[in-house]
Amino acid sequence: MLMRIGGKDTEGVDRRWIDVMNPATGVLIDRVPSGTPDDVAHAVDAADAVSSTWKKKSMRERGIILFHAARLVREQHKDLAKILTMEQGKPLKEAIDEVRGFASILEFYAGISAHTTGEAIRLGPAGDCMVVHEPIGICGAIIPWNMPVLIMGWKIGPALLAGNTMVLKPASTTPLSSLKLAAILDKAGLPPGVLNVVTGSGESVGEAIVMHPLIKKISFTGDCTTGEKIRRLASGQLKDLSLELGGSDPMIVMDDAEIDKAVEGALRGRFYNAGQTCTAVKRLYVHEKISKIFVEKLRVRVESLKVGNGLEPGIDMGPMNSAGQRERIAGMVNEITDKCEGKILTGGCSLTGPSYDAGFFYHPTLVSDVSPGARLLTDEIFGPVLPLMSVPDLDTAIQEANRSRYGLGASVWTTNLATTKRVFDEVHAGIIWVNRHITVPPEIPFGGMNESGIGRENGSHALESYSRTKTLFLGW
Ligand code: NAD
Repeated sequence: MLMRIGGKDTEGVDRRWIDVMNPATGVLIDRVPSGTPDDVAHAVDAADAVSSTWKKKSMRERGIILFHAARLVREQHKDLAKILTMEQGKPLKEAIDEVRGFASILEFYAGISAHTTGEAIRLGPAGDCMVVHEPIGICGAIIPWNMPVLIMGWKIGPALLAGNTMVLKPASTTPLSSLKLAAILDKAGLPPGVLNVVTGSGESVGEAIVMHPLIKKISFTGDCTTGEKIRRLASGQLKDLSLELGGSDPMIVMDDAEIDKAVEGALRGRFYNAGQTCTAVKRLYVHEKISKIFVEKLRVRVESLKVGNGLEPGIDMGPMNSAGQRERIAGMVNEITDKCEGKILTGGCSLTGPSYDAGFFYHPTLVSDVSPGARLLTDEIFGPVLPLMSVPDLDTAIQEANRSRYGLGASVWTTNLATTKRVFDEVHAGIIWVNRHITVPPEIPFGGMNESGIGRENGSHALESYSRTKTLFLGW
């Protein structure tokens, strides 16, 4: 597939290519141009040329285009999901959910377009003021490979509705779904140049987006180290920055929880998308009174997961997205064994055999009794490995949950209202779920605390973050 700049497919100036492989089979699916800073400059020119026309449309007109795009996405959801599974690895049923989630995001923003207003402030004898929201201008979006479709929706939905134009860079392993979606948006009536997709590496295309002087806001989702690099690169210019970074979400299960429901919550919370989700359950703290039965039930469920090529029917978990991701996870688990920092209850290695050898499959893994300083607890585990710790009481659970540099999400599984309130008040995270984990519908603001980032996506909060106020002061 080709890059999409100014509503047209283009090879880019350099004519070098990036291979896109299926992580389940190692087979080449397609190739995309390896973009350069010149391609970013062309995309910015295209975005700039259409900026004033797009900005002048009413929010309702822009919303209608998003709504049409959502309808086309729903009509083509099976084809889109197949592309997503083939480039990313997730099971087809998860890919379908993600594509439908993208459509829901566009529908949500199309829906609020009719209700978004400004403000009138009456100052008595001093005069009256009218406050309106204006788009920021050209925005840059840099997205990761783990949920490429959903995260593209989180960025383009509010940005385009607010009247901005955009240059978006997908991750190198998952560019195909973004390119296909951009073509659908153009077909839905988006004027050429409003959304441009430039493929290529982070160092070349990503940094050129961050550094381009006409790009006034950067919305980045990805690793903390990359986020920090982007923050430093952008610091020389006055740019608006949204950084949605890593997480190490704790899940707390109290002794009054519905155990079977919590077991299913932990299973989905950790192994969905092969554990490669920012808000996955990454540390599990179970009350000691129920930990034995809980762990046993969870182990049985984990061992029942069917791992394989996501395109095959009945698959619960696909491969990891790349060899590098699998190596990183294997390294963390091997350290546990080498340093005697925990006990592997199940899994703990790559899957082998004729169906697995060409892909990047890793066994769904449970590790118990993990030492507090182990990397499994201090770093983000971006794969299908779950450390479980038994805790004597809620105080300890909260203390351990907060022993992290991250603060994206957290959940508590309980039937007690007082426990819920304490966790909500005391655990440091942008979202606290009760008897649920991982779900982020378009209506709710989403983003982290501490090293999990700055800024919020989703909801009307994100729409505001893609605009700035402008005030008319009438001194009668
Ligand atoms: P990554 O930081 O390696 O890559 C993300 C994107 O940044 C890619 O498009 C990449 O090409 C680009 N990039 C890399 N170096 C760059 C540079 N120097 N300048 C500009 N762009 C650059 O992250 P990843 O491995 O793709 O994603 C996984 C991470 O994303 C995990 O830490 C996960 O928790 C996080 N994540 C966070 C959220 C959230 O909303 N908080 C959501 C999903 C994923």
